[in-house]
Amino acid sequence: MTTNPLRILFLSAEAVPFAKVGGLADVAGSLPKALRGLGHDVRLMIPRYGTISSDDFDLDKIGEPFRVPAGAGKEYVHVMGTTTDEGVPVYLLWNEHYFTSREKVYGFEDDAQRFAVFGRGVLGALKLLDWKPDVIHANDWHTALVPTWLELSGWRDPFFRDMATLFTIHNLAYQGITGRLILRFAQMDDVEHLSVEQPGAVNWMAQGIAHSDLINTVSERYAQEILSPEMGMGLDPLLNARKDRLHGVLNGLDYDAWNPVTDPHIPHNFDVRALNRRAANKIALQQQARLPVRSEVPLVGMITRLDQVKGMDLMEPVLTWLLGENNAQFILLGTGDPRYHEMFESIQKRFPGQARAFLKFDAVLARRIYAGADMFLMPSLIEPCGLGQMIAMRYGSVPIVRETGGLADTVIDHTPERGHGTGFVFSELTPEACNDALRRALETYQDKEMWRALQMRGMGCDFSWTASAEEYVNLYHKAITLHE
Ligand code: ADP
Repeated sequence: MTTNPLRILFLSAEAVPFAKVGGLADVAGSLPKALRGLGHDVRLMIPRYGTISSDDFDLDKIGEPFRVPAGAGKEYVHVMGTTTDEGVPVYLLWNEHYFTSREKVYGFEDDAQRFAVFGRGVLGALKLLDWKPDVIHANDWHTALVPTWLELSGWRDPFFRDMATLFTIHNLAYQGITGRLILRFAQMDDVEHLSVEQPGAVNWMAQGIAHSDLINTVSERYAQEILSPEMGMGLDPLLNARKDRLHGVLNGLDYDAWNPVTDPHIPHNFDVRALNRRAANKIALQQQARLPVRSEVPLVGMITRLDQVKGMDLMEPVLTWLLGENNAQFILLGTGDPRYHEMFESIQKRFPGQARAFLKFDAVLARRIYAGADMFLMPSLIEPCGLGQMIAMRYGSVPIVRETGGLADTVIDHTPERGHGTGFVFSELTPEACNDALRRALETYQDKEMWRALQMRGMGCDFSWTASAEEYVNLYHKAITLHE
């Protein structure tokens, strides 16, 4: 418990358990909970999508609807309130046209307008609630309007003047680029053109970076990488200019939600002291995948969006070598780009007794793979943080990863001589480098004692929010000081 509780408003387009598309939802679901555990008054604000029903989440209307600018007209926003099971107050902003009539989080032609209405709604909601946070924590481009408005216009209003801002970059690939007409739409004509923006365009990610008191991304390594032209996605000049304000904080894992001791979806619960029970999960997984049930054959698992940034272009030659030249098994769970669906279908046909591809999203099967596979492969091109490798380690599956972003910050390469390490790491983005790491893993797997030690070291790592939530608190204090 802290002696100096902060008031923190956490803004996100998605949050577990209300709406989830990707990792941002996991963070928005679990970081506020951890901050609350540290004694802070943290509250979450998200749009209310059509999929979020009043009955499921016990939503109550708060106050009267208010109007926000929206082009030539005005839009009404209602604030709905609820509290999560862990006691975090949640405000959901309801606007019929832009949010509640939509069944999805993103992917509409008017996403820029939708999140402009949300941003304007956040400001109006704070007034309605008469709640003044010490710090507003905005996440990704969808919420960047808020720190931008606060810096450019908020100082004129004593209500908003003292609110500090932290802006977190979860995924630099999505920047919210739109035409400058959006500024008229949101009545923010004073937003100046930034040199990283295309003529006539607004880049909300860039605006959030330019106008927040402090900026961070989700691992230290990724915070370094995005300063380079190769990985800065056009924003590296701006990020370099604000380098002294840029930090890296690793995402935590919700240790209650991901726990092999209590996970109700895995056939056999286990922990680091009863690791031999894990073997039964491998058998169950081989059965489910209709692969030969062979305990001695190393089983490599992979759970991923089928996207180029996840390293999918390496997989054809890697699996040709892994399955063609070794006695190994492979199970994939993933969906995404159709060309990769075809690729994995063809691999499955070529290696029927060794490979199985589940081309779908399946949260339960994912847990069974983490609990049953011997190794977990993540050959990503870009990985700001990555959750898969952390879950794998918690569930005793040894990660094989490319040295990038959060993968580099969480997995320590194993070398037999030094007797430490938690997985196998490769650097070059080539099938040969990936195969070399796999080959080292297959060799180590033959030494049961060494392998067990490797699993146990991974399971002993602490990837819970405890440390990272403290780091966020430090950033909030820093943002407040800088704001003053
Ligand atoms: P990203 O957010 O870039 O997709 P992360 O590794 O940070 O990558 O998080 C991905 C999360 O989504 C992990 O928890 C992973 O288990 C889960 N996941 C990915 N694909 C699937 C799938 N097809 N079925 C079930 N879970 C999946």
